[in-house]
Formats: sequence, C-alpha cells, structure tokens
Amino acid sequence: MLRKFFPYLLPYRWQITWVLLQIVLIAAADLLKPWPLQIVIDDVLGGKQTAVPFLSAMPKEGLLILACLAIVAVHFAAASLVFLHNYTAIRVGQNMVNDLRSRLYAHLQRLSLLFHGRQRVGDLLYRVTADSFAVQTMIMNGAMPILSAALLLLGMLVILFPIDPLLTILALSIVPLLFVLISSVNHKILSVATEARQSESRVYSLVEWAMSGIRVVQAFAREEEEHRRFMGASRRSLEANLRLYGWQTFYSGAVSVVVALGTAFVVYEGGRAVMSGRLSLGQLIVFLSYLAQLYQPINQVTQSWGLIAGAQAGAQRVFEILDTESDLVDGTRSFPPQGARGEVAWHRVSFRYRPETPILKGIELNVPAGAKIAVVGPTGAGKSTLLALLPRLFDPSSGTVEIDGVDVRKYQLKSLRGQIAMVLQPPLIFPLSVRENIAYGCPGADDAAIERAAQAASIDDLIRSFAQGYDTLLGEGAVSLSEGEKQRITIARALLKNAPILILDEPSSALDVATEACVMNAIERLMRGRTTFIIAHRLSSVRHADRIVVLKEGAIVEEGAFSELLVRGGLFARYYRMQFAGAGVTFDALGEAKLSAELL
Ligand code: ADP
Repeated sequence: MLRKFFPYLLPYRWQITWVLLQIVLIAAADLLKPWPLQIVIDDVLGGKQTAVPFLSAMPKEGLLILACLAIVAVHFAAASLVFLHNYTAIRVGQNMVNDLRSRLYAHLQRLSLLFHGRQRVGDLLYRVTADSFAVQTMIMNGAMPILSAALLLLGMLVILFPIDPLLTILALSIVPLLFVLISSVNHKILSVATEARQSESRVYSLVEWAMSGIRVVQAFAREEEEHRRFMGASRRSLEANLRLYGWQTFYSGAVSVVVALGTAFVVYEGGRAVMSGRLSLGQLIVFLSYLAQLYQPINQVTQSWGLIAGAQAGAQRVFEILDTESDLVDGTRSFPPQGARGEVAWHRVSFRYRPETPILKGIELNVPAGAKIAVVGPTGAGKSTLLALLPRLFDPSSGTVEIDGVDVRKYQLKSLRGQIAMVLQPPLIFPLSVRENIAYGCPGADDAAIERAAQAASIDDLIRSFAQGYDTLLGEGAVSLSEGEKQRITIARALLKNAPILILDEPSSALDVATEACVMNAIERLMRGRTTFIIAHRLSSVRHADRIVVLKEGAIVEEGAFSELLVRGGLFARYYRMQFAGAGVTFDALGEAKLSAELL
C-alpha cells in the first residue's frame, strides 16, 4: 500500500520533511516535560543538591518558581509545535486527497463504457468522495503517530536506560505484546472495515438510483417499497459499522489492559527501587510520566486502528479503480487538420457486451465519404451499438472499424472523436449556460459561430427571447426547455462542431407539427456535406437516404437504395407497407412481435 502511496507523497517531500522535523521537536519537548517535576521533588523538596551548576547556588524558593515556569514553557513549546504540526500535516493530507481524487476522476472518465456499464454509479461516487479520504486518515491517524511513537521510544531508551536499565526493559516489555495484539486483530478489523465501506457505498447507490428515478417511483406509488429497500441497505451498513466499532472497542480495551500491565510492572519494580534507595522518588516520577507519554502515541495508533483499517479498505477501493487499465488503448495517428474524408467501413465486425450474448454478428458495411445512411430495424437489433463502435465508445470483439481506410484503434481517441458529431436521444442538456451547452464540443468557439449554429438549428429566436440570452442557465432549478428545444440545442452543438462524420438518432418522440418541421429542417442543414448515419424512425429520412441498412438481431439482412429495397419485396418492403398502412407508426415501435407475425 505504501508503495502505491509513494507517487502521491513525492510532490510534498519538503513539506513532509518539515512535518518529520516537527515530530522530532515535539518528541524532544515531550521528553523535557517531566524534568522540572524531578527538580521540584528531588532538589526542592528532597534536599538533594542539583547537578546543574548555576542552579545549585539558587535559593529553594527561586528554584521552585523556575521549575514551575519551566513546566509552563515546555508545555507551551510542545503545544505550539503540536498546533503547527497538525496544521501542516492536515494541509499535506488534504492536498494529497485532492490529488488522488483528481487522478481517480480523470481515470474514471477515461475508462470505457464497458467498464461503466458494469459499475454502480453510487459506488463510484462513494469511491471518489469518501474512499479518497483514506490517504488523509492513513497519514494523520496512522503514519504520524507511529513515527512519533517510534521516536519517543528511541528517546526514552537513550535517556532512561542509563537511569535504570531494569525499569526501562520492564516498560518496554509490553511493546512486543502490543504488536502481537495488533497483528492478530488487524486481519479481522480490515475485513469488517471493507464490509462496512461496501455496505455504505450500497446505500449511496440506492439513493442515487431512487432519486434519478423519482418520477417513476412516484408515478407507480412505490415510495414505501423503495423506502423499505433503502432501510434494508442502511440497516446492513449500520450492522457492519457496529461490528467494526465492536472490534475497535474490544481492541482498545485489550490495549489498555496491556498498557496497565506495563505500568504495574514499572510501579512495582520502581517502588521497590525507591524503597531500597536505588532510585530517587523524582526519578520514579519521571519514569512514570515517560511511560504515560510513551503509551500515549501507541494508544492513539491502536485506538484508531479501526479507523486506519477502514482507511486501508478505502485506499484499496481507490487503487482498485486506478489499477484498472482502460480497455481502450489509445492510438498514435491523428487526422489531418482539414479533417477526415469520411469513408467509413465495418469489416467482419462482431460485438458482445457479455461473453454469452453476441449483439453484432459479422457486420460488413462500406460507406463512401459524404453518403447518407439510414439504419433501420426493430428495437434491440443493435443499431446504436453498431454506431457506438465508430467513436470507440466500445471496441469490436472481433473485426475492424475503419475511417478513411485506417482502423479506428490506430487513431488518438481525441483526434478520432473530433471527427464525429453525435446527436443522441434523449437530448442531453448540461446544467450550464446556453452558450456553454452549444459550445460543449468546442469550448474555444467564438460567440458569432455559436450564434450561427443556433440560427441554423432554428433555436436562435428562442434564446434571444430569454432575459439573459445566451447566458441563460439551463437545467436543474433553472430554465427548462421542451424536448424539441433541447433537440435543437443538441443539433446546434453538432453543427458548431462541424465534424465530417455525423451520427444521428432521429427524434422519434411525438413532436407537434410545427416543432417537428423546425427540428427536421435543422437536421437537414446539419447533414449537408457530411457522412451521415441516421437511426431512422421516419419515412422521409429513409426515403432521402442514399442507402438503407436493415439490421435484425445484430446482422445486416438487407441493404440498398429505397426504391431497390421496395422492388426487392423483402423485410424492408414489408416494414414500409406496414408503416404506410398505419400512418405514424415508426419502425421501432413495430418491434419484434409484429414483425414476426407479419413474416408468418
Ligand atoms: P437498438 O439501437 O437497435 O435498439 P442497441 O444497440 O441499443 O439496439 O442494443 C442492442 C442489444 O444490446 C439490446 O439487446 C440491448 O439490450 C443490448 N445492450 C445495449 N447496451 C448494452 C450494455 N451497455 N450492456 C449490455 N447490453 C447492452
């Protein structure tokens, strides 16, 4: 785990050195703490002649005052150092959390949709927000107390051993015992802590799930069931956390018994030494205060072991993601500045989301630059999947997808995706201003270009009617748009991107006649001069396409121009007749059931 943390520690090496120096200074101040007390007991009260030359000449009263002042001064120095230390260490810890989060977030954005398809959003949310705090906890509650305990231990050995070797050995005798305790319980605590984190992330997932589906939950009056499901997960999380606290409390109890054992040894042997005159009372007091100080950081480490173990579990969950290699290896080639020509080809392409279910089977399709291809077929035939292979949202399981005669995997993802504009369903609007929404694909675009795109998408008038025009905030809690308006914003976004290849999921929702005309006009303008793939739901798009590809169960069953396919009298012709007979019925809505009924 430390090896993995190392790269995150590196940028803070000087601050960490400073923190370590502070630990040494704190240890030194701590080691000084009991000495004034010894002077009071032995020299002021006990009448022993002090060993320090300039103090021996002082009257007893003066020595007492000086010792009292020294107590305050040493504690003041120690407290200031602890304050400084905590502040610096927390700052380093927080910065590391920030770095780790940033890495994790960037990595998550790079991982393919195949990875994201398998993950729960709430779990990822928990990893980015809560688990990433592990670094901070491990440093503040783990590494630092362990280090200061080790330093104090060393300091004690150097100072105490010459005073009384036997007592020193007795005081240290419990250290191996503590280590045995730590290592025996550690494994158990780690597994309970992991379980607690997992169940907590499950709670996150459920909330995310229910809140994003709140419309459906309320529409089906499922609030109580959802609440029950949530309570179930919450209770499991509670139980796991209680188990964790149980182990932690048992553990700290066991530690204090071991510490008491050590103290008892020293008190017994020290008491006998004072009685026999081998040791002064002051020395024994110094010894006992050292003991308390030594046990304090050890106690701190052991008391918070549950926390550290939890953090370790969190860190493991963070590195689990960071260690997941993206299954999309970036290529090296890039397109010329003027962009791709726009020839697209699928060669013997097969694809499966899960090993057992093939989704695309041996797709062979060649599309010349600038062609308009309509892709039709029943829902679930694989139309979206076929087109998702083009910008490498997924890679084919076998075969190749090519643009301008080169396998798309050879291109840099950024360059590749720069050549493709997508207008998908449902239209996705971000909680940003209209301007930022339109310029989402090209953040540097100037205002004139953004407005031209909006005009071409027939949305400019509407935007100008808002009080804040292009600076109007959209989305949650701000101006909300109708479906048709959202569609036109996404069309403006694609227009502005001005990419040579266009993937279009045609709106199939029932827009009113005026809106439909607006949206379709905008789409017409968008398609001009580009290689266009349109998942077609409308007769007009199919009729005007250069070629129609009919997909069924992941295979191309028919392909050709509109009139050719009609003459051939195959599957498409039957589709067409059905749509013609029942005006307004879209290809998608026909589905498999009707289709097979027709085929029979
Ligand atoms: P279409 O666009 O023709 O409706 P899709 O390409 O969306 O079809 O889906 C094809 C098949 O792949 C469907 O059976 C769908 O359930 C499945 N599918 C789509 N996306 C995923 C995914 N991320 N993971 C697993 N299966 C998926």
